[in-house]
Amino acid sequence: MRLGSIPERLSRDRHNLGAASHIEVDQAAARRLGAGPLLERICPAHVYTQGPDGAIRINWAACLECGTCLALAPPGVLTWRYPAGGAGIAYRHG
Ligand code: SF4
Repeated sequence: MRLGSIPERLSRDRHNLGAASHIEVDQAAARRLGAGPLLERICPAHVYTQGPDGAIRINWAACLECGTCLALAPPGVLTWRYPAGGAGIAYRHG
């Protein structure tokens, strides 16, 4: 059985969008600790982007729930919880 490329395999997953973001960024802490470039670099789904004003934007709907940002972000920058009510990613064959 051919598994396919990583993008092909990820395309089989289902994202059930919740009503609200399951990720919050403390913008002041992120600025103070310079967390923006780190978050942009470590997230495999490119959930985080830092705008020209320095604010970190969150494309939470793309989150793969891998936990990398939670493990590596400086303490106090992120509030992260699993999406509520069965929302979030459902992995399939990947
Ligand atoms: S849990 Fe993983 S995919 Fe989701 S925002 Fe954090 S690093 Fe990105």
